[in-house]
Formats: sequence, C-alpha cells, structure tokens
Amino acid sequence: MKDSPSTILIIEDEAQIRHFLRATLTNHGYQLLEAATASHGIAQTAQRQPDLILLDLGLPDQDGIEVTRQLREWSTVPIIVVSARGQEQDKVDALDAGADDYLTKPFGVKELLARVRVALRHAERSAAGTEEPTFVSGRLHVDFVHRQVFVDDREVHLTPNEYKLLLILVRQAGKVLTHRQLLKEVWGLAYTNENHYLRVYMGQLRHKLEADPTRPVYLLTEPGIGYRFKPE
Ligand code: CA
Repeated sequence: MKDSPSTILIIEDEAQIRHFLRATLTNHGYQLLEAATASHGIAQTAQRQPDLILLDLGLPDQDGIEVTRQLREWSTVPIIVVSARGQEQDKVDALDAGADDYLTKPFGVKELLARVRVALRHAERSAAGTEEPTFVSGRLHVDFVHRQVFVDDREVHLTPNEYKLLLILVRQAGKVLTHRQLLKEVWGLAYTNENHYLRVYMGQLRHKLEADPTRPVYLLTEPGIGYRFKPE
C-alpha cells in the first residue's frame, strides 16, 4: 500500500458530471485531475501519471474507445469507462480495447467508490507481482496450486473448462469480463462469437457453486456485456 492518496483523472466533457465526480471523490480522500477533451486527457495521463482514469465514452474530439486503445499502447493505468445507458456495444468495445470496468450513467456514489476501489486494488496487486496461491470468498475456496475448488469445505469437481472459466473470473474478482475475453481465454480466438458456450458453462458453474443457481451471488451476469465474479 502506498501512503499518498491515489490520483484520479476524470476525462469528461460535461462540467456537471465532472463537478459531481470531483466533489464525491475528493470527499473520499482521492486527488483529482480533470480534462474535458480526449487530447487533454491523454496529455495529462502522460504528464501526471494518474493511478486511475474515469473516461467518458462520448467526448467532443475523439471517442473513448479510441482513447482507451491509444492509452493501452503505453500505459497500464486502470481505466473505468463511463457511458450512457444503451451504449452496450461501446462498453464492450472499450473493455475489449483494454478498459478495466464500466459505469452506466446515472450511477450512485456507492457504486462509483466500489468500482474505483476494485480497479485500484487490481493495479496495486499486479504492480507488486504477487498472486496468492489460494482464493477465498465467503463459502468458496479455490486452491490454485492443486486446482481444487471447495464450497463450505466440501470439494466440488469441475471439468477442465469449468475450472479455467472460474479461474479467470476469480483471478480478476470484482472486474467485469466481456464474452469475447472469456471465450478467447477458455476456448481460443476461433470461438469468440460462441456466447452460448458461456451460457452453458456459467449455468454448470452456478449449479455446482451457488446455493441457489437461479439467484447467483458470486457469478453475476452483466447483461449485454459479459460476466463478473462478485467477491464477498
Ligand atoms: Ca460526454
């Protein structure tokens, strides 16, 4: 953990939303930088090296997807994209381009802070290069070394692909993963349009891991986008 407050760069052209974000995040101890255009945002990222970026997808000079692509050529800074409802494909494209998460306007303070915390934590962990050999969340326990999965201390047998899928989700717990990202990781590049694979395998995983598979608390669907493991 670092001692200095994390710096968050807001790239957003609407002054009202910038104001809301600045007020909320400053109140919670974050340092804020602001940019109203894509080009200013990219320049600020290079000069000030923020710890996290909140990126609006609809900017006057360039769209946020292209900004994400450009930033990912030289920066691993966590990016949370902010978009209007109904822009599902844009969100998916931004996530596939390397964004870490998304928020849909209008969003609440709690949701904003939770997403920011998750993204900063991931970044810190990958910077430290430490991966835990086990994952524990509530009733679920995954032993990465022995490839074993337990629910309430009872071992659950998963098929190799079920395990792969779970592994990707828990390794990035809290973070949304697109259909394309999951399909590519588990089945390979040739299968990135086979969304029904995911539906089937997520169903199986929920059946094996969730107390009530019809009301999952861990393996959440992000409609139109993908899936997210929600840690307890
Ligand atoms: Ca905008």
